[in-house]
Amino acid sequence: METTTHSGATTLPPRITQTLIDRLTAMVIAGTAGEQREAYEMIEVYTGAVVGELPQSSPEDVAAAAATARAAQREWAVRPVSERLAVFERAHELILAELETIADLIQIGCGKTRRMAIEESCDPPMVISHYLKTAERTLKPIRRGGAMPIITTSTEQHRPKGVVAVIAPWNFPFAIAMSDSIPALIAGNGVVLKPDNKTALCTLFGVELLQRAGLPQGLVQVVCGSGPDVGPTLIENSDYVMFTGSTATGRTIGELAGRNLIGCSLELGGKNPMIVLDDADLDEVIPSTVFAVYGNSGQACMHIERIYVHERLHDEFLRRFVAAAEALGAKAGAAYDYEPEFGSLVSVDHMERVAAHVEDARGKGATVLTGGKARPDLGPAFYEPTVLTGVTSDMAHATMETFGPVVTVYRYTDEEEAIRQANATTYGLNASVWSRNLARANRIADRLEAGNININDGFVASYSAKATPSGGVKQSGVGTRHGAAGLLKYTDTVNIGVQKKQVLAARAAMPYAKQLKSTRVTLRWMRRLRIR
Ligand code: NAD
Repeated sequence: METTTHSGATTLPPRITQTLIDRLTAMVIAGTAGEQREAYEMIEVYTGAVVGELPQSSPEDVAAAAATARAAQREWAVRPVSERLAVFERAHELILAELETIADLIQIGCGKTRRMAIEESCDPPMVISHYLKTAERTLKPIRRGGAMPIITTSTEQHRPKGVVAVIAPWNFPFAIAMSDSIPALIAGNGVVLKPDNKTALCTLFGVELLQRAGLPQGLVQVVCGSGPDVGPTLIENSDYVMFTGSTATGRTIGELAGRNLIGCSLELGGKNPMIVLDDADLDEVIPSTVFAVYGNSGQACMHIERIYVHERLHDEFLRRFVAAAEALGAKAGAAYDYEPEFGSLVSVDHMERVAAHVEDARGKGATVLTGGKARPDLGPAFYEPTVLTGVTSDMAHATMETFGPVVTVYRYTDEEEAIRQANATTYGLNASVWSRNLARANRIADRLEAGNININDGFVASYSAKATPSGGVKQSGVGTRHGAAGLLKYTDTVNIGVQKKQVLAARAAMPYAKQLKSTRVTLRWMRRLRIR
């Protein structure tokens, strides 16, 4: 694709006009009330040039946004689920029709490759498709028996919570913001969405597409600002919070939710291990691992940062994996087309954090087999695909999430030791195991402490399965997204009980010894006859 040079030396694709940027930034709820915040300068990661100013919401703006969403939600909640779903049927088509513009906007703020931007843009249509098939059934009231057959009944009803705060990170800014908001909306809620400032443009475009598909005006409100400035008001004015980001921020969000006695779903960080068993097929392992480690330049919560390889395969694995990492690095580039296969990191600040982990490891005796350098010739935030060995527990990269294109390879002899090492982390988001023998891989999978486990794959197999709930265990999260659980979490379950005849009142007239005897007999028989 041809690119044009705009003023300020950006290299934006022709689709991205100033009119589009102005239209999107005008959607942010800001300047309605409270002390006005200074606008945030959005930059194109590839060049560091300013592409526009993003208004910043004050806490008063956030409260106003939540009130607007709440007013629109009352009317939305009473619509039948099928009517709500019709909006998303159209949104599915609109997103697919606009994939190229969405990818442009993602690339501007993230600097990722075109291919990753397109793959990310396909996530919300996959989520929509799943709920178009299942939401009516999942949200339908379920009639259950009461304590006494025939005489009492109980119905389980799923009501929307009201207003859901969706707080999204920068690494998959379109996929996460949209795919977490969509089930909340399908369940009948309003949404106040807070994207990361760096990557707000693609999120705003996604909301515009939902509105073009027929979502009522006001139902989704976008607020922008620094987390600590807008976060507390956002949570105080919401009935549920869906947060995706780092474990440190997740803890703060969990505390705020607890203080307000609202539920929360926290999708947090990881330090994800991969175990390569002695019978794994390296022809399959190597290309998949390159993607699992370096896809999105290593800025994926489920990406692999630790690889344990059996000694029988270790040397060959290292030789082939290092060669593959170098071949990928040779295809790095900054372009809004499909040519580059490896992209930039999101910002110079983040690249410096990644580089600091590598330097810390190098300084304490680790070996950098390849990479370990920035590539300013390609753009201000490029960093080479990096492979380390000899990483020890005193190094930051051993235990902390690096969130960049950096991985450590460890040799193991004993399978038990590999499992122990893989689990030796406070995180539990994703784990991967490779073997030609699926039964053997499954036995190991059963012992790995992670919310997502991938057999003969890095992370795509579990994440792309939208029917199965996905989330982190240990300090990687609370709750799940996808599947029925990913929809029902946005509802309150209400129990409507009906007593057809007041038998309990009649029993109250009996002497208590008689009541006790009859209760015992009743409970015994109901158990024996499997009635309750
Ligand atoms: P972050 O925690 O710094 O920020 C995430 C979002 O929270 C941003 O929008 C930020 O502005 C906002 N925020 C920060 N402080 C806040 C506060 N006090 N109140 C309200 N909002 C606040 O994370 P990040 O650097 O943007 O994203 C990278 C992290 O996200 C990594 O740790 C990664 O593993 C994790 N992540 C997890 C998943 C998952 O599904 N488990 C997916 C993607 C990213």
